[in-house]
Amino acid sequence: MSENFYQQTTRAPHSEFDVSLRPPEFSEFIGQDKVKERLLLMLEAAKGRGDVLDHVLLSGPPGLGKTTLANLLSKEAGTQLHTTSGPQIEKAGDLAGILTNIQLGDVLFIDEIHRLHPAIEEYLYPAMEDYRLDIIIDSGPSARSIQLNLPRFTLVGATTRAGMLTAPLRSRFGLVNRLDYYDHEQLARIIERSASLLKVPVDRDGALEVASRARGTPRVANALLRWVRDYAQVRGGGKINREVADAALGMIDIDAQGLDEMDKRLLEVMIYKFNGGPVGLNSLAVAVGEDAATLEEVHEPFLIMEGYLMRTPRGRQALPSAYEKIGAPQPPRKPDDPQQEFFNE
Ligand code: ADP
Repeated sequence: MSENFYQQTTRAPHSEFDVSLRPPEFSEFIGQDKVKERLLLMLEAAKGRGDVLDHVLLSGPPGLGKTTLANLLSKEAGTQLHTTSGPQIEKAGDLAGILTNIQLGDVLFIDEIHRLHPAIEEYLYPAMEDYRLDIIIDSGPSARSIQLNLPRFTLVGATTRAGMLTAPLRSRFGLVNRLDYYDHEQLARIIERSASLLKVPVDRDGALEVASRARGTPRVANALLRWVRDYAQVRGGGKINREVADAALGMIDIDAQGLDEMDKRLLEVMIYKFNGGPVGLNSLAVAVGEDAATLEEVHEPFLIMEGYLMRTPRGRQALPSAYEKIGAPQPPRKPDDPQQEFFNE
């Protein structure tokens, strides 16, 4: 059940539930203080000059607030938001269709921008730099290029894989921001805010209990809260406290650190099947029956942040806390292993 649970929360983002809990203004956007401060400064400067906002890139794992920030930027700038994603733009004509609908100062949000087709990226460069679109119409002898002038606009690109962005595309963003995982305190505040919107009472300990299992991710925190609310309604007298949260989350196999079935399976496979690693991502993906991109974008960043595994040039390596988590004996020290410092003691 927990596997389905995370698949729902990570693979079907931007559900109606997500949208209803989305902070409508910057003051309600909790955490990411550095990023917020930069964006607000940029907004103020652009407003002061009567100019449009520069292009912004937001990177980080799914569910940390990239789409929300794009919404807030357009709202604060008082302009319209147009939303699309890298894989949705299949042909130059698709991009032309979007860009020609844009008004002065509008925000174009391209989610998963690292998945843009290289040919489409080429069209995007002059659009970002000179607000110009050169498109070729017709083919063969009658092919000709036409140039369209576009109003000045702001491109907000979001990516879970900043490293996969080409250098020319990356360099065309005026501001590049990486969103970090949230700490428990920030997640507890997000949960309290969401609970009040959902009209379910939650006490501080209850919010912290859900927060500590939310993998540093607001979308996961909200999804867990939704489950805990149902549980509280049926078995907890309608209120969420630590006991109710603990029982509810135990019922869907989310452990005290927020690891789900897939995380645990990943660690087990690394340790028992690949001797702790190093092991390549694709071999791991086949062994656990999950696609490599989901492992790399959803499971791995969290497991790395929590110190269960690390990336080495030769592949993924399990760390001592992974052995501890799944109750496996620590491996013997390998004398010529450059990673051995991690296995001391
Ligand atoms: P991303 O685009 O990075 O995948 P979203 O912007 O869709 O993430 O955020 C997922 C959900 O998490 C949002 O709908 C919102 O309800 C919640 N959320 C994200 N960041 C915050 C935050 N800083 N404060 C409050 N809620 C947040």
